[in-house]
Amino acid sequence: RIIMGIESSCDETGVGLVRLHDDGRVELLADQVASSVEQHARFGGVVPEVASRAHLEAMVPTANRAFATAGLALSDVDAIAVTAGPGLAGALLVGVSAAKAYAAALDVPLYGVNHLAGHIAVDTLEHGPLPTPCLALLVSGGHSQLLRVDDISGAITELGSTVDDAAGEAYDKVARVLGLPYPGGPPIDKAAKQGNPSAIAFPRGMTGPRDAKYDFSFSGLKTAVARWVEGAERRGEEVPVNDVAASFQEAVADVLTAKAVRAATESGIGTLVISGGVAANSRLSELARERCEAAGIELRVPRPRLCTDNGAMIAALGAHVVAAGAKPSSLDISANPALPVEVVSL
Ligand code: ATP
Ligand code: MG
Ligand code: FE
Repeated sequence: RIIMGIESSCDETGVGLVRLHDDGRVELLADQVASSVEQHARFGGVVPEVASRAHLEAMVPTANRAFATAGLALSDVDAIAVTAGPGLAGALLVGVSAAKAYAAALDVPLYGVNHLAGHIAVDTLEHGPLPTPCLALLVSGGHSQLLRVDDISGAITELGSTVDDAAGEAYDKVARVLGLPYPGGPPIDKAAKQGNPSAIAFPRGMTGPRDAKYDFSFSGLKTAVARWVEGAERRGEEVPVNDVAASFQEAVADVLTAKAVRAATESGIGTLVISGGVAANSRLSELARERCEAAGIELRVPRPRLCTDNGAMIAALGAHVVAAGAKPSSLDISANPALPVEVVSL
């Protein structure tokens, strides 16, 4: 069966196509993404109205490109999955409306699915079925969560999450302080490679004995970096951008991997999946690999292209939901900007 996935929760218009095999394997056939990130760059963050308009313009051409690259026709589609939330209301609405139109026109079932679960499900396209239970560290522009996944098509439980900023948000804000472009993840990752990660001892949030075990906090770290940079500027010193980037990145990777490995060990879970845009970070996956190996935990990280927003992740999740025999969504579903991660499909 062929599943079409549509993503429009933030600033990427994504359309993916996958094949669900009879044995439950899900194969990637097409993954087309149009991003409006450049239109937001000068604002230092996503502008919702700009994103919605860009989705509207990009949706049909992106879908057409996906079918062309896969060598498939619209009539080959057996089911449609779309991101129903969480995300920006107006942006989500474009994808949901398009998905309804395709589903109605093609007379195929529609599945409104969860964007965050999609970030995890995408790993199955690269590494095969998820062993269950597994632990997922979801780190993206809007979320930082530790999740227990007993079934990707419906049983996800939150073990912890950020109490303030998301990891990606911290990257974007620190990049701004350092005069690096938006989005901040890739340029900080690059600068950090030339810097010394132990040059500055930035704080590791929520790691005290009295802090909740599996929660994160990145707002104090962000402020510490800003203060440090201001201090250097006040003294007329040149800001060692590479060292600040490396030291900041080390603090983020340290906290995320320490808590993820601890959660896996304490829950007796043998597999950790790291996903979401920040999973594209080179130091995070390197440190996770070291620590997982030491703890005897299998680590799975999708390739960077699949970590950031795309339609293939939604198609993949849709395929797992279809395979599980879930009931399709009604054609009157609406987008839910605050859809909780536990709700995998509507
Ligand atoms: P959410 O999934 O929570 O709704 P989102 O979809 O906007 O948020 P993603 O596209 O998954 O988020 O991730 C975008 C974030 O990933 C940005 O904050 C960006 O800076 C960060 N990011 C991308 N590449 C890297 C990298 N190499 N290192 C660190 N962060 C990165
Ligand atoms: Mg994005
Ligand atoms: Fe995302």
